[in-house]
Amino acid sequence: MTSPIRTQRHDDVLVVISDNPPVNALGQAVRAGLKDAIEEAIGDDAVKAVVIRCDGRTFFAGADITEFGKPPVGPSLPETLDAMEASDKPVIAAIHGTALGGGCEVALACHYRVAVPSAKLGLPEVKLGLIPGAAGTQRLPRLVGAEAALPLVVGGNPIPAKKAKAIGLLDELVGEDSLEADAIAFARSKIGQPVPRASEGNANEDGVRDPDLFDRFRASQARRIRGFDAPNAAIEAVKAAGELPYAEGVQKERELFMKLMSGTQSAAMRHYFFAERAANKIDDVPKDTPLIPIKKVGVIGAGTMGGGIAMNFLSAGIPVTILEMAQDALDRGAGVMRKNYENTAKKGRMTAEQVEQAMGLLTPTLSYGDLADCDLVIEAVYENMDVKKEVFAKLDGVVKQGAILASNTSYLDVDEIATATKRPGYVVGMHFFSPANIMKLLEVVRGKETRHDVLATVMKLSKTIGKVAAVSGVCPGFIGNRMLSKRQEQANELIMEGANYWEVDDVLLEFGFPMGPFQMGDLAGIDIGWHRDPTKVTTIREALCAKERFGQKNGKGFYDYDEARNRTPSDEVKAIIADFAAKEGREQREISKDEIRERLLYPMVNEGAKILEEGMAQRASDIDVVWINGYGWPLYTGGPMFWADTIGLDTVVAGLERHGLPVSEFLREKAETGKRFNQ
Ligand code: NAD
Repeated sequence: MTSPIRTQRHDDVLVVISDNPPVNALGQAVRAGLKDAIEEAIGDDAVKAVVIRCDGRTFFAGADITEFGKPPVGPSLPETLDAMEASDKPVIAAIHGTALGGGCEVALACHYRVAVPSAKLGLPEVKLGLIPGAAGTQRLPRLVGAEAALPLVVGGNPIPAKKAKAIGLLDELVGEDSLEADAIAFARSKIGQPVPRASEGNANEDGVRDPDLFDRFRASQARRIRGFDAPNAAIEAVKAAGELPYAEGVQKERELFMKLMSGTQSAAMRHYFFAERAANKIDDVPKDTPLIPIKKVGVIGAGTMGGGIAMNFLSAGIPVTILEMAQDALDRGAGVMRKNYENTAKKGRMTAEQVEQAMGLLTPTLSYGDLADCDLVIEAVYENMDVKKEVFAKLDGVVKQGAILASNTSYLDVDEIATATKRPGYVVGMHFFSPANIMKLLEVVRGKETRHDVLATVMKLSKTIGKVAAVSGVCPGFIGNRMLSKRQEQANELIMEGANYWEVDDVLLEFGFPMGPFQMGDLAGIDIGWHRDPTKVTTIREALCAKERFGQKNGKGFYDYDEARNRTPSDEVKAIIADFAAKEGREQREISKDEIRERLLYPMVNEGAKILEEGMAQRASDIDVVWINGYGWPLYTGGPMFWADTIGLDTVVAGLERHGLPVSEFLREKAETGKRFNQ
């Protein structure tokens, strides 16, 4: 087998080139080739300096993830990099594309780093539940200081070359089209000088002079890193770089790395990494299915969802025509969209010009005729079958043939909606989540007649607008809301049996959700769908509405809210629930947190199993993608199905039985045969 590494002599400079498409991942052959090349350079008196660069679209973009979990084959990356750094001849990293993870660590082990202006550098290991494992956490702070290193190691987002130069991670920016020649010239300018080694740097003393900077940084990231092990380990590693000699710091990094590597969080996050990519594939839709060009989009309804949906396309530069029933609703909808954009601009995440650009692509209308030339129309009107059918019949009459008609329905039967048209093959569900301009998930609902090109187009489009898509079959609530209903059922039942509603919420918060079911109710509004008759009380929600407890919108729902929207459990609500339970003749008892957690989550897993059995989801990991992106299921558990695999399906079955809850045959059989949902 030929090595992916080759060398070229340019007089006294040896250029080492990696050619390992697609992203020059640092697999075994690359590591071995690099080490050999460095040894060749050190042993050859005619070589005075070394440049390392990559062919193809990028510098080394990371480890070879397919080697994870397999027995390591040497040389290891740390060993290769130590050999590189130990050279007394200057070694220069010449970077284009993205120097990520192990690739960034290669650059750090070089004595100098030059890059083209379009390059990016980063240490994204935290995103897989890990920290850098080839001394990145030790070399980087010594080179750029702890303060500059922390966001890179803990946040995991790459930074552009210009920023990297500003913090001292890069020595020079070179010509976009003359990387190799400029790097060789740079290398020559360093010949004969003592080489600077990142491992010997002292920039990390900033963290020794001001040790509080680590706690300040941790506090500033508290919300983002809550529950995640890796970011905390990353902070610890960077701190160690200031406290320990280099070799001991590397040892500390290794210990932290190994602990993460063998833990459940990293396994879960690696699962998610592949799950997101898999979700984009529809098994029976060929890869080369021709796409329908989407140049203009229509949205019906400018309410909560319609406005947010429209913003996705405007932000991606796709013109949108939005239709309402009346001028005031139309004006209100467009006004909310503008305000949302302006708020983003106020936070500095958009320029005033970009706001105008986006809003300039919006055409509000009251006339269906204006939708005639749309390539895709998404309906987001009231959740009512008759209204939806009427809208689809109208659309079918005016919108050009070959255009896609999509519904944002949360629960309704997309196949039935499709019967209102003469083009059921072009009807599909595009289920966005609120707020639709922000939430990542797009549940694509595949009707029984939905065409392949329609599905392929919608999946591709989801990427254009920055969403993560997963496909669901047609069933009430699809994947996400169908499972949510099971959780909500148990939440309601638990408070009728005597559990405190804030404890139910807290159990989910402790598990890692951003909020619990009763907080969610308060946020969405308890009066959604309320009949507005305070004398008619058949549910706890109706009892709360009767007392004008509508949720966050009027400062009181299940909780009382202060100005800053902090919640406090309410004695009034506790009494309302107790009264209601008494009237229903429900006995009250103490309910443990374990029981609450099991009763909320295990029935979801059971429902997920049924969804799989019925073929409503293509694969268990799609369900994980839905729950992580649409409902805040904590990423570090890998989603409901992976989490169930982790704790053991027999544990789930035993828990359901203990609580007298149904167990699907599919789940039971998997548990009994020791199988998992995700192989
Ligand atoms: P909404 O009440 O905020 O908005 C609906 C809008 O549609 C209103 O502005 C109304 O004037 C307009 N409308 C009603 N009938 C119309 C018609 N025939 N022609 C044109 N416009 C019409 O409701 P929403 O929360 O945006 O929900 C819309 C759809 O999205 C529903 O199917 C809902 O189930 C679904 N959905 C809602 C959420 C959510 O969290 N709100 C999430 C996902 C999906």
